[in-house]
Amino acid sequence: QLDFSGKVALVTGAASGIGEAVARQLAAGGAQVVVADLHRDAAEQVASSIGAQARARQLDVSDADAVRQLVDATVAEYGGLHLAVNNAGIGGASQDTADYPLEEWHRVLGVNLHGVFYSMKYEIAAMLAGGGGAIVNMASILGSNGWAGSTAYVAAKHALVGMTKTAALEYSARGLRINAVGPGFIDTPLLAGMDRAAYDGLVALHPAGRLGKAAEVAALTCFLLSAQASFITGSYHLVDGGFSAR
Ligand code: NAD
Repeated sequence: QLDFSGKVALVTGAASGIGEAVARQLAAGGAQVVVADLHRDAAEQVASSIGAQARARQLDVSDADAVRQLVDATVAEYGGLHLAVNNAGIGGASQDTADYPLEEWHRVLGVNLHGVFYSMKYEIAAMLAGGGGAIVNMASILGSNGWAGSTAYVAAKHALVGMTKTAALEYSARGLRINAVGPGFIDTPLLAGMDRAAYDGLVALHPAGRLGKAAEVAALTCFLLSAQASFITGSYHLVDGGFSAR
């Protein structure tokens, strides 16, 4: 069991899937967790099922002012911010590049890339003021591979890996560790609506013979946030059932 007692953690997109699993594991380790999500009701449900260590907050990560206000409010309420997981993300349309709608490009980049930049920007400032911290950005195997039909998602995830490395270069000497996690396909609501053949096709891409579980991604994420990972910064860590070994 990792020890997060005395730590304050902010998890975005924490009302579902991977973010929810991260919030639960951080709280189990003793952290106070801000369960931030676009969907207020779902966030409230997750926070109340975690109990006194979690509080739900409505947040649209694509709104820079809203991110800044939430980080400020968290510091004011808890006295600091030590851990953050920038996990909120959307899949977006499935269209080849020449047909990819411009508005969809901006929407996906707004959440998956700009949202992570805004989050890091304000989290880093708060963590430096408190003497240090650790951040994990939720990338994907599509942070280092292409995926036909998902140009905006793939662009955002690749960019997020570069942003993670850059911020680590800037702040690792000042007590901050910043890493990215690259999950393979994980069985979460993000994949909902897929037919059986498409699901089986995804399974076949993973040598493990199945999709991943949110808790398996959360386990790596929490390790990277923990004191055990004290020399790990600026890197991109896969949890992909062997997807990238091909
Ligand atoms: P999910 O859909 O289960 O959860 C995503 C959460 O983010 C939802 O609760 C949603 O309400 C929230 N969200 C969406 N837009 C938001 C916004 N603008 N502001 C705040 N919250 C917002 O998805 P998931 O599978 O748990 O995905 C979590 C992260 O993991 C995403 O960044 C995704 O790209 C990444 N990822 C997922 C997979 C997968 O196969 N499921 C694989 C690799 C990476």
